[in-house]
Amino acid sequence: MYKLMTPGPTQVRENVRMARSQVCTNPDLDSEFYDYYKETCELISGLLETRNETLILDGEGILGLEAACASLTEPGDSVLVIDNGVYGRGFADFAAMYGAKVTFYKASYTKAIDMDEFRAFLKKNHNFKYASLVHCDTPSGVLNPVEEIGQELHKYGILSIVDSVSAMFGEPLCVDAGRLDLVCGGSQKALSAPPGLAFVTVSEAAKKAMENRKTPIASFYANLLVFKDYYKNQWFPYTMPISDIYGLRTALENVKADTDRYKRHARLGELTRQRVRHMGLSLYLENGYSNTVTVIRVPEGVNASEILEAMKREHHIMIAGSFDVLSGQVIRIGHMGENANEKDVTETLDALEAVMTAYIK
Ligand SMILES: *Cc1c(COP(=O)(O)O)cnc(C)c1O
Repeated sequence: MYKLMTPGPTQVRENVRMARSQVCTNPDLDSEFYDYYKETCELISGLLETRNETLILDGEGILGLEAACASLTEPGDSVLVIDNGVYGRGFADFAAMYGAKVTFYKASYTKAIDMDEFRAFLKKNHNFKYASLVHCDTPSGVLNPVEEIGQELHKYGILSIVDSVSAMFGEPLCVDAGRLDLVCGGSQKALSAPPGLAFVTVSEAAKKAMENRKTPIASFYANLLVFKDYYKNQWFPYTMPISDIYGLRTALENVKADTDRYKRHARLGELTRQRVRHMGLSLYLENGYSNTVTVIRVPEGVNASEILEAMKREHHIMIAGSFDVLSGQVIRIGHMGENANEKDVTETLDALEAVMTAYIK
């Protein structure tokens, strides 16, 4: 067994694992489970500081992104894809799959979105139904100012789809203050439940846009409207994964009780960056460091997979490489959720220092 220090899946606390082993009812027929589901959704909305409804979907984080795009996009719609990272760019695939005409706002992959530049762009180009944006783009670790971006989009009547899968609960996020319409999260990042669930907060404006479509949503599983009135009608569109939801609920209660969470993430993020620099390694980013993950450039002549292998073999710690355009170029330490504790972060950094010293000598 390895100590998980990857940017998702993260470590899962024992009470979450135990919650998943509770006796199951029939979630389709038991009215108490409808209450439990709804209260769990409301707990998410509360933690994300929004009055918007949250829906929990039976699929990993990616399902939330696809469901948001599938539910909003009608063939021919103009969509703005904010691209300063791998997930940022990836939204174009989902939007295009459902018929969108995509315009990219491209910016450096090593920096957070610059608000002055973005405002200037929007001033000239704002004829979009919605824009997609990523809070923490995990392959590079860049953290974007999603609340400021959301407020700007709102001024032009552009709806927003936000991927905060690897930021929420580790970085502050106030959905209502940012006027954010569809905000996507997942179970296996800073929430520290096992992989398996996605959830989306849905604004009234987004609901209206879905209901007023001229064409039907071209999906069932990725259609957010199929949950409409589930509570009133006591009818889920498909059987809910009850054990996953028991685990999720306990993980959410852990987060809620952990009132120091943002400060701790900030402290451990800063500690990690300082120690990495002190080892003589460089960070991938120039600015916009997320406190949920640190992304380190692999020095010239060093093989990323050999570092990851040595971390496992010699220290029983699992950290991650990256993918797409960053494949082989960086290694990543995930210090989010349950991973974000002084002992494990320090042990990981000590191990990395030992591995790098042995490697480079
Ligand atoms: C992890 C992650 C997702 C979801 O990916 P899954 O493979 O479905 O867990 C989406 N967006 C970002 C930014 C992520 O880090």
